[in-house]
Order: sequence, then structure tokens, then C-alpha cells
Amino acid sequence: MANRLDPPVRIGISSCLLGENVRYDGGHKLDPFISRILSGFFEWIPVCPETEAGFGIPREPMRLERHGKSISLIGLTSRRDLTPQMRSYVRRSIPLFAHQRLSGYILKTRSPTCGLAVAVHPGRSREPGLFARALLRRFSDLPVAEEEALRDPLVRENWIQRVFAYYRLNRFWSTRWTVHTLREFHTSTELTRLSHSPSLSRRLDRFTANPQDISRLQFRCRYQSEFMRIISCPATRAGNATVLQRAAAILRPFLTPAATSEILKSLDAYRNRALPFLVPFTLVTHYLRLTKIIQLSGQTYFNPFPEELALLNHP
Ligand code: SF4
Repeated sequence: MANRLDPPVRIGISSCLLGENVRYDGGHKLDPFISRILSGFFEWIPVCPETEAGFGIPREPMRLERHGKSISLIGLTSRRDLTPQMRSYVRRSIPLFAHQRLSGYILKTRSPTCGLAVAVHPGRSREPGLFARALLRRFSDLPVAEEEALRDPLVRENWIQRVFAYYRLNRFWSTRWTVHTLREFHTSTELTRLSHSPSLSRRLDRFTANPQDISRLQFRCRYQSEFMRIISCPATRAGNATVLQRAAAILRPFLTPAATSEILKSLDAYRNRALPFLVPFTLVTHYLRLTKIIQLSGQTYFNPFPEELALLNHP
């Protein structure tokens, strides 16, 4: 609770992952990482679509089946087509999430309702579950992940980066923003964007500098979509090295030659895979705190998410 931001970072989640006994067999799928670690940072909005759609607990197992061109949710015991009941729930519930101000969503892997890539019978194709499909369609920029994918440290880090980027952006939209304040927001994310995708970042620079004759809503939608697309690209070693090199050049006039050389050596070693990212990043952040250079200290790159998440330990 101590690590939560104000307002809280709200994350929608398949409620069985939090240990709620809502599965078809009356059980749950408690995920230890989610419940022990992430719970300290996020406010959960738990949802079990199958229960809320009225299928009851326990209920018969279901699966996705292809019938002609359409994909249906079929009860395995009764062979009933449960698609209309689930669609009706989805139509009612998905628009309501707009009021929840979600910054992300965690879905249960392989569920025919919640999963992102679920086996469709017969054959080998994979499709999103009915609830997941509607969620992705309505909130295309929302950072959505399955709990099993989040066990990979790099996927987890990128998802959490997207969550906090989306949270910051939506906090910004909730202000009385102007093109001027948008440009300030945009500048504060410059190094983050560069580390993820220099080419997409330059394109967004051009759009922000010259938004042409479009409405405020169109501007917001396009900015958000392009911004989140950039953050969705995983940050690369080359991108991180370029950004830290640029920060080192800005810090240089304020540092002793020995301190500058220490940063540059660690950057070389990081480029050559001899040191993990955390070493040059911590060094630059350390000198940044000492010098308090505004040009850098306002950059989200140096404060992408709460430090306590300890996510930057990758090679
Ligand atoms: S996967 Fe989704 S529908 Fe199934 S029990 Fe979990 S929350 Fe409910």
C-alpha cells in the first residue's frame, strides 16, 4: 500500500488470478507474483466475465469453436452455444471500464473468455477469448498482458513501463491541457521515447510540432495511439546506450574528468555486453541527483516506475 500513487494506478484483472474462487470448477488461479509483488503498487479491478455473465459457479467447461466464419463459445457438456449470453454481457460491461480509468489489464492465459491467444477447435488457430477481444477493440492503447507472459522479465518490464506511461498520459489528459502543456509533457518523455524507437519518436515529434487542422479529440487520440505504440516497442541496448551517452554529454561540464570517465567506461562495457544496464543507468542517475540538471531530471526515462519494483536488473 505504501508504494501506491495518488490517484492509484488501476489495473483490471481476471479475478481468478487474485485467488477468487470463480473458475468453472469452483477453484482459482492465484498468481504469486501478482498477489505478492504487484498488489503493492496497483489497485485491482477484478472481473470474472463468465460469472458476471450469469454462467454460475461451478459451471460446465467451455471452449472456442469455429463454425463457418464465426467463432463461438460452446459448453463442453451441454454443447450449448453460450456466445449470445457472453456477447450480451460484454456489450453491457466493456463501455463501463471507461469510468474506471484503467491503466492496464492482466488476463488469464488460455481462458476461452479472458485469454489473448486461445486455441480454436478444430484446427490450430488461436484467437482472443470473447471478453479479451472486446476489451482490445474498445481500448486499443491499453497495456494488456496475460499472467504467464508476465513471468518473462523483459515482457514484464515493458508491460509495466507501458502501464506507467499510460497512467501519466491519462493524468495529463485529465488536466486543462493545451498544445503548450502537451509539448512540455512530450519533452519530458523524449529520452524514454528515443530508447524505445527513435524513428517513431521523430514522427511523433513532427506531429506534435505541427498538428495541422484537426480537432482536439482527434489530436488526443492520434497522440495517444502513437505514443503508446512507441512505448510498446521494447527498449533496445543500442537505444539505451545512445540515451545514456547523451545524458553523459549533458552532465559532462558539471562532473570531474574521473566521474565522466567512469560513466563512459561503464557505457562501453554495457554496449559490449560486459555489464548489465543497471550499472551505467545507476551511475548516470547518481550524478544526475547530485547535479540536479533540470534538462535531465524531469525526464521520465530516469523515473519510469517505482524503484521498489526493481525491474531494471536485466542484462
Ligand atoms: S479466466 Fe476469466 S472467466 Fe475464467 S474464471 Fe478467470 S476471470 Fe473468470
